[in-house]
Amino acid sequence: MPNCELIPDCPFFNDRMGTMPALMGMYKIIYCSEDSSQCARYRVYQRLGRDIVPPDLAPHMLSEAEAILSGR
Ligand code: SF4
Repeated sequence: MPNCELIPDCPFFNDRMGTMPALMGMYKIIYCSEDSSQCARYRVYQRLGRDIVPPDLAPHMLSEAEAILSGR
């Protein structure tokens, strides 16, 4: 899969989310460059739209994304 289409405006990718995990650089490779379909932010964006993605949702936070997608 090509680079994520959200890279230009993504606060995670552009380091605008404050304190982030030490593995941030690795996450950018795994999610942003290789497979955005596994990214929590991208999943919420895809199903519910950009405005619904929480500002502090990091790519690895899949259980939080599932909670949002299931309306919990
Ligand atoms: S994969 Fe996720 S974190 Fe990376 S640019 Fe896309 S939406 Fe942002």
